[in-house]
Amino acid sequence: MIRRFKHVSARTKILLFAFLFIILPSGILGYLGFRSIGNRGLSLKENYRSMARLMRDELEGELSNLEGRFVREILNQEWTQDIQAAQLLLARVRGRHPAIGETFIVGTDGSLIHPEFYLEAGVPRRGEPGSVLTSRNSFIEQGERYEFAELDYPSAARTYEEAVRRAASPELRSYARLLLGRCYFKMKNYAKAGEQYRILSEQSQEARSSDGTPLKIIGLFRLAETYASLGEGDNEVKTLMALFQELSLSPGAFESREFYLESVQAGLDRVSQSRVLGKSEQDRWDRLKLEDIARTERIRRLEGARLALLSQLDLGASQNDKNDGSPGPDSALASHLTTRDEDGTPHRLGYLFLPSKAALPGRRVLAYEIDKTYVLTELFPRLIGREEAGESIRAGLFSEEVPLTSLPDAPPPGQALAAENLSEYFPWWRLALFDTREKSIEQLVRREMRLYGAVLLGIAVLILSGIVMTLRAATHEAETVRLRSDFVSNVSHELKTPLSLIRLFGETMESDQWTDDGKRREFSRIIARESRRLTYLIDNILDFSKIDSGRKEYAFERGDLVKVISDTLEAYRFYLRDQGFVFDVSLPSGPIFISMDKDAIAQAVLNLLNNAEKYSGEQKYIGVKMALQGAQVLITVEDRGPGIPPSEVKHIFEKFYRGGHGPAREAQGCGLGLTIVKSTVEGHGGHISVESELGRGSRFITTLPLAGKENSLHGVSEVENGQDPDR
Ligand code: ADP
Repeated sequence: MIRRFKHVSARTKILLFAFLFIILPSGILGYLGFRSIGNRGLSLKENYRSMARLMRDELEGELSNLEGRFVREILNQEWTQDIQAAQLLLARVRGRHPAIGETFIVGTDGSLIHPEFYLEAGVPRRGEPGSVLTSRNSFIEQGERYEFAELDYPSAARTYEEAVRRAASPELRSYARLLLGRCYFKMKNYAKAGEQYRILSEQSQEARSSDGTPLKIIGLFRLAETYASLGEGDNEVKTLMALFQELSLSPGAFESREFYLESVQAGLDRVSQSRVLGKSEQDRWDRLKLEDIARTERIRRLEGARLALLSQLDLGASQNDKNDGSPGPDSALASHLTTRDEDGTPHRLGYLFLPSKAALPGRRVLAYEIDKTYVLTELFPRLIGREEAGESIRAGLFSEEVPLTSLPDAPPPGQALAAENLSEYFPWWRLALFDTREKSIEQLVRREMRLYGAVLLGIAVLILSGIVMTLRAATHEAETVRLRSDFVSNVSHELKTPLSLIRLFGETMESDQWTDDGKRREFSRIIARESRRLTYLIDNILDFSKIDSGRKEYAFERGDLVKVISDTLEAYRFYLRDQGFVFDVSLPSGPIFISMDKDAIAQAVLNLLNNAEKYSGEQKYIGVKMALQGAQVLITVEDRGPGIPPSEVKHIFEKFYRGGHGPAREAQGCGLGLTIVKSTVEGHGGHISVESELGRGSRFITTLPLAGKENSLHGVSEVENGQDPDR
């Protein structure tokens, strides 16, 4: 197995190693990385959830503490049957417990004792209702006769004035004023009517008309009417608002309340049609309306709470006593129930029996709410502000989707990192945690995944390009090794041929068999030629070795390029003629001086000629031209051989490279000739290129820079004259 592995190509080995030791482990690591990021998402979620739970527990624990403290203080007080004393005591205790919101006491009969409110019909208010007028006096009766039977208003007014003056009680006096005002009004004496109504509206006692309407209300209403008749809009508005405030403070106390409320609205509407309400008027009106709404809402809530409480309790019973001092958790000292407003808003109510030493026929119950506003604006920010939840993590309280606590740009709770319902207090609230950068966990995880994916991709690209580069290097190495081994066999072959010829003819001459001088001369010429060939070959190899190792140095000297080239051609000319070549040479007649290494240039030209000869095939033609072109001299070596395939053209100047097609392969060589030519030409600051067409031949064009200007004068003229083409 291992032995077989040795013969596997380097490429396959590299690929196998890369796969086993790099790609596969990286893939596994990448997969594990993705999985752990996914798991991190889950554990993050769990973290945030427990963080939310912790915060919730802390909030509820603190609430339980606060409630317990309040309840314990209530239980430690001495409560008597005196309602006013109880109210004072409660107010004092409450003042020390800002967390406690609305409180109320339900009495033995199920009625609300505290706070003092005029409640809906059927709920008795404390104390007697204002005295309702039943009695009249003779002046009033006389006045009414004038007013209604005889329609004699002045006499009626006089009589009513008398009634005011002689009234036996303040209530009766107020009533007489009402009648007097009405009479003046009928007389269109609005100033005097207004005066009576104003006095009436400013009085404090609680006189009521026969249908139970407070006279103060009637007075205000009529005063507004009077101002309307006088055209005093400002005063009318002011009076209407005063009337509204009065009405709103005594809800449900009398039957005609709705009528008066509507009248206020209608009156203000009317005024605002003829003139715009002033800013302060409008503000006051808005505030009054809000206060009214708040009051109405509060009364409804209390009433709802009272009814809910009643359904839970048997107030008459003194058993089922929860607070006889038995120790227990704070909130267990009190019971709890949840009530709902008409609009469904839930409220949680705590309640407990007020302790009393006196033997009582029944018990009183104190009920209380935890103050939402306190929780939201004080407690929650204080407690949660302490939490170290991370820089951008914020907590908020929500009811349904509505944020209760202020969160800067709170996203909807659907985007929360975690949300926990409150359980004991405000069970309809939720505590939610957010990242203020508005990142849900999914987004965070996705972002990390993307980042990780990008890094992974980068690494993969690096690894793959590394592998590709290694493969290319290996391929190149393998190619070089192949070329080198080809080179060695090519060189041996090339050296062998001249050597065996030299030996053969040398031995033949030695044997004295050939005495013929002609033959001897021919043999020695062959020996000399083959020696030259050997020298040329060895020169090439030595040159190449210097070039390849970077040790090649050119011995530059100023010289005539035309002469160097024509000498080189001369040495070759006879040989080519023997071989049956047409040798077409065209050189300038005068010298061209450049700075050069003569031997190197001669060797390069020789290499080109040698190639032209080797690769000329059937068409035995070699053309050499030399010409000036601007500041350069052009040397062209051309043949009409089979040419070079386009795919090989870019390689022919590479070391050891030998063409692989056609007759080129049959020619001997070791792939160094053109490498040396290129290196020499470039070493002289020149350039070599090749134009080749399959079947038509190749042309190697060498350009060398001129050494000085004086050359161009000679060169150009003579070349242009076409002188001496066969030098
Ligand atoms: P060698 O001639 O020893 O093979 P060279 O470096 O001189 O090495 O040439 C490289 C290759 O270029 C040759 O093997 C041959 O395929 C191609 N080549 C060079 N000169 C010619 C030419 N004149 N005509 C066709 N092919 C040529």
